[in-house]
Amino acid sequence: LAKSSGKNTFQFFSESLQKSLNERIVIENALKSSLQEGTDFFMVYQPQYNHDLKAIGAEALVRWQTESLGMVSPAVFIPLVESMGLMDRLGELVLQMVIADMQRYSNAELPEGFMHISINLSIKQLHQKNLAQNIKQHLSEAGISPEMIRLEFTESALLEKNLDTEALLAEFSELGFSFALDDFGTGFSSMSYLKDLPISELKIDKMFVDGLPNEESDKIICEATLFLTQKLQLESVAEGIETFDQLVWLKNNGCDYFQGFYLSKPHRYAQMLKKIKEPILLPAPLQ
Ligand code: C2E
Ligand code: MG
Ligand code: MG
Ligand code: MG
Repeated sequence: LAKSSGKNTFQFFSESLQKSLNERIVIENALKSSLQEGTDFFMVYQPQYNHDLKAIGAEALVRWQTESLGMVSPAVFIPLVESMGLMDRLGELVLQMVIADMQRYSNAELPEGFMHISINLSIKQLHQKNLAQNIKQHLSEAGISPEMIRLEFTESALLEKNLDTEALLAEFSELGFSFALDDFGTGFSSMSYLKDLPISELKIDKMFVDGLPNEESDKIICEATLFLTQKLQLESVAEGIETFDQLVWLKNNGCDYFQGFYLSKPHRYAQMLKKIKEPILLPAPLQ
């Protein structure tokens, strides 16, 4: 019995392995043609709020939806685009789409205190020649100031070989861009860069926010990160807030800004503009 079930198990694994290889090829081919034609991608924007629950910015997140595959998560397709060597092309499309969205509506439609749209950059894009100048050029042709754009990257960019991250960030910040360090605490780099690099904001990863307000180790990690951001005079943004209790804990522990489904899901630009003008109803006052 053990033997035959072992055989079945093996068969099951090889079948599912074959299936996932086939799926990967199907997805890669679809990605290739979507990237070539520049179709099937769009952006959504998730607001970030201050203590008064006024929106101070929004993060641009790319979506990919095809007729045959439906919606595929960026957590799935971005690593594929990277491994296919096509991240520069996707980055270009993302920038074009964000610029088009921002251009379609005047800044007057943004509420007072709304400071920036954040754009995620993959490490694969950071190797591009003249990246900073190119982005600046596209923005200025559209009449958008670099001060309106915050760039998000992860700690892994700081460990990347053959990349002078310090020089790159210096170039970007001289042009007026600011930076957020995404998924803080999930990488493996040393923290010394925090004092050497022109970073404005640390984003506390959802992984740690999930355990608030009860999980002891998550609380300690969040407290330590918020202590660090206060001492280094960096802005702190918590990601992935899904409950009122998480929001209360973060506010009471000095987190500056809040992002998560509890406050707003990511929306198309026009819906996001509408959403951030509506008041947020809480079960009890935030105090
Ligand atoms: P990220 O930059 O850390 O983005 C935050 C992710 O958390 C987004 O997932 C967002 O939808 C999700 N999120 C926010 N609040 C909540 C919440 O309360 N609950 C839950 N369950 N999730 C929440 P998304 O859009 O699926 O993106 C996943 C990752 O893909 C992003 O992580 C980012 O690394 C990458 N990504 C997305 N768009 C782009 C892009 O335009 N360019 C690049 N290079 N990477 C992107
Ligand atoms: Mg991000
Ligand atoms: Mg993140
Ligand atoms: Mg993430």
